Amino acid sequence: MKQYRPLVSLIGMVGGLLLALPAEAAQFRTWRFDPQQNRLEFSTDAAVQPRAQLLFNPTRIVVDLPGTTLEQRTINQAVGGAIQAVRIGQFDAQTTRLVIELAPGYTLNPDQVVVQGETPQQWVVQLPPPQGGTAPSASTNQVNATPIAGAATQVEGVRTTPDGFFIRTSGASPNLTVERASDTQVVLQLENATVAAALTGQTLPANSFGVTTWTIQPVSAAVPTLQITLTVPANSTDWQASVSNGSGIVVLPPRGVAIAAVPASPSGAPAQAPAEASPPIAVQPPPPAPVVPPQPEPAIPSTPAVPPPDSSIPKQAVTIVIDPGHGGRDPGAIGVGGLREKDVTSTIAYDVARILQQSGAQVILTRSDDREIGLEPRVQIAEQANADLFVSIHANSISLSRPEVNGLETYYHSSGNRLAQVIHQSILSLVTMPDRGVRQARFHVLVNTSMPSVLVETGFVTGAQDARNFNDPAWRSRMAQGIAAGILQYAQRSL
Ligand SMILES: [Zn+2]
Repeated sequence: MKQYRPLVSLIGMVGGLLLALPAEAAQFRTWRFDPQQNRLEFSTDAAVQPRAQLLFNPTRIVVDLPGTTLEQRTINQAVGGAIQAVRIGQFDAQTTRLVIELAPGYTLNPDQVVVQGETPQQWVVQLPPPQGGTAPSASTNQVNATPIAGAATQVEGVRTTPDGFFIRTSGASPNLTVERASDTQVVLQLENATVAAALTGQTLPANSFGVTTWTIQPVSAAVPTLQITLTVPANSTDWQASVSNGSGIVVLPPRGVAIAAVPASPSGAPAQAPAEASPPIAVQPPPPAPVVPPQPEPAIPSTPAVPPPDSSIPKQAVTIVIDPGHGGRDPGAIGVGGLREKDVTSTIAYDVARILQQSGAQVILTRSDDREIGLEPRVQIAEQANADLFVSIHANSISLSRPEVNGLETYYHSSGNRLAQVIHQSILSLVTMPDRGVRQARFHVLVNTSMPSVLVETGFVTGAQDARNFNDPAWRSRMAQGIAAGILQYAQRSL
C-alpha cells in the first residue's frame, strides 16, 4: 500500500515513540538467560532502576523493576543444572519482577552478583558460578571435635528447616552466645557443651540460606566450649540464633540479602567507590542517558573460556527464518483502499527480524526486498540454513463485501503447534483484535519444512478494522513485537 514508508523511517518512528514515553511508565521488552555464562540480560523501553536481592527458600535472585509493566503473560523458563528456572511476572501494578531460582542444594554468593546497566534501558545480571550440587567436602564442613565426657550439653545434629537451621541438642539447655565474628562469619558459642558421638562424620547442611560452610570445633576454655561457625554472605545482616525449648538452637537467616554492585571496570578504569547515600540495594548505575537512543547491542553469548563441567552441548544462537509472504509481481491479497498484502507482510516481517537480531538470534529473511519468490525456494532457504524455527507472515482476505470479518489466525501443520500457540498469545497480549484461533492447515511452507513452522495471518486486508490497523505504523510495530516476543519466548523455553 502506498502510504507505507520505507523500513528505515519506520525504525526512526519507533525510536521516537520510545523516547516520548515517560520514564515512570517503562514496559518490559526483551530478555534472555545465557546458562553457559549464568547471565540474565533484559531491556525495557524506558529507563529503569532495578532493585536486587537474594532471597531464600527457595534460593533465588529477585530483581524488581519499579515503574515497569509486563505486557506479556508470565514467563517461566526451566533452565537446568544449578539454575532451576527463570521467571518473569508482574509483581504488582507498578513492578515487573524477574526471578532466577537456584536448584535445591545450590547457593551463590550475593556479593559477587553484578547488576549493571549498559544503558538505562538495558541491564545485565551476572551471576557467579553457583556453589553446591555435590556433597560438601570434609575440609569445608568439618566437625573437628570429639565427644568430651562431663559436658552438660551435647550437639546431636544440624538440619535445615523451611525458615533456617535447627541445631538439635541433648542434655542441659544450651548456654548460647552469638557473635558476628567478621563480615562473613556468624559464630555461635556453646558453653559447657560438646559434640555427640553421632555428630562426628555427619554432613552439615552447606549451601542453604546463603551459608556456604559450617564448622564445629572446640575452643579452649575453662569449661568445654563448642564453637559453631557459619560462613555467610558479607552483606547479610540480622542473623539470629536463639535457644528453642531447651532442646536446640534455631538459627534464622535474614529474609534476604541485598545484592551489592561490584564496581565494574569494563575498560580497565579504576573501580569506583559506591555512591555515599547508597540505597539498601546498590545497583551499578548506568551511564547517563544518551540524547539519542542507543542502538542495543545484540546479545550474542561469547564462548566461555572454560567449557562447562557437564557434558551438555553449549547452546548456539538460534537460527530463525522469517518469511514475508508474497512480494514482487505477487502482491498477495488486495484489500480496503488497495491495501496490498505484500506491503503489510514486508514491514511487519522486517521489524520482526530486526527485533530478533537485537535479541541475539540469527535471523534469515526469505526476502529482504520487494521481489517475487516461490514457495519451494522459501522452504529451501530454511532447510539449507538448518533453521530452528520458521515463521511466515501473511495477511488474510475475504470478500471486500465482508468488512466485518477481522482478526488474527495462526497456522501450523505438525511440530509448530506449540510455537503457534505461543506466538498467537503473545500477539494478543500486545494487540487488541478478534481472536480467530490457532488452526491447523496444509500450507506448503508448513508441510515441507522440517523444523517447527508457523504461518501468521496478521489480520484481514479486507476487514474494516484490520485495514485501518495495517495503515497505522504503531499498530504494525506492536504486531511485530508480539510475533518476535512469542518466537523468543518459545526459543528460550524450547531450544
Ligand atoms: Zn498470503
